[in-house]
Amino acid sequence: LVLDQGPPAYAFPDPHPFSRDRLEVFRKLVSQPDVVSKFGFAETIIASEQDIESFHDKDYVDFVKRASRLGVGYLDQGDTPAYKGIYEASARVVGSTLLALSKVVSKEFDHAFVPVGGLHHAARDRAGGFCVFNDIGIAIRKARSDYSIRRILYVDIDAHHGDGVFYEFYDDPDLWIADVHEDGRFLYPGTGAAEETGGGAAKGTKMNFPLPPHAGDDEFLSCLPKIRQHGANCRPDLIILQCGADGLQGDPITHLRYSPDVHRMTTRLLHQMAHELCQGRLIALGGGGYNAKNVGEAWFEVVKELANPPALS
Ligand SMILES: [Zn+2]
Ligand SMILES: [Zn+2]
Repeated sequence: LVLDQGPPAYAFPDPHPFSRDRLEVFRKLVSQPDVVSKFGFAETIIASEQDIESFHDKDYVDFVKRASRLGVGYLDQGDTPAYKGIYEASARVVGSTLLALSKVVSKEFDHAFVPVGGLHHAARDRAGGFCVFNDIGIAIRKARSDYSIRRILYVDIDAHHGDGVFYEFYDDPDLWIADVHEDGRFLYPGTGAAEETGGGAAKGTKMNFPLPPHAGDDEFLSCLPKIRQHGANCRPDLIILQCGADGLQGDPITHLRYSPDVHRMTTRLLHQMAHELCQGRLIALGGGGYNAKNVGEAWFEVVKELANPPALS
């Protein structure tokens, strides 16, 4: 299932890298007639304030609403500009991810992909790194409150560390995280050291894989066996993949050099694990990616893997 809000999607006005046309190549690829028949497509919906406030402080939600009415200034230190309607656009990202969750939990679909989802930098009380509301964190809360799903494996392969999810759930022993990213000494948000493995009872449930600038497929793929072991230890009831495409060679704002193989192999592994461990429940969320060709190619690999039968172990 692909949940796509279609243009105008959650995006920022030119010349912002999180642009209105970054999903165009992806949309073209998935609309090919021989491909389109393999997926379901669904319209997106707007999340309720109550759902958004399961993760975000009310003061912050009100701040976004005000900024959305005025449509000027920034929601953070200068990465995430306000525009008229940004509240609704952001709430729609959250609604889409929650709809994906409900369709997967209800077994209407085994897997879902939300290209505009995966806004992993937003924190409880602030925007960050082009992210207004953290649809991932909200989906994790919703899985627990509405569907009695506790144990969740979250894998984040965006070039940037998923700080908004990582630190909110740092002490949570039931959220297992594996996050592969460009070393924070060289890239926003500057976090994600390998020594951070979770706090208190959650020690050992978090894994960071900081890669040096210019790392490519070999460096990335060498992490997959460790992610597989981490997932096996977790025994999840649900798997969430944030598959940002900004680690591909040619992305304008990062320094990694992956090919779309990274997205294919990661999805293949998690797809197989989902069928083995949690009745197929796997939600993939887009995340970053600022070169439209890269975004299209990487996420096309993701949806193709999910549409095919899982690989055998
Ligand atoms: Zn990113
Ligand atoms: Zn499957």
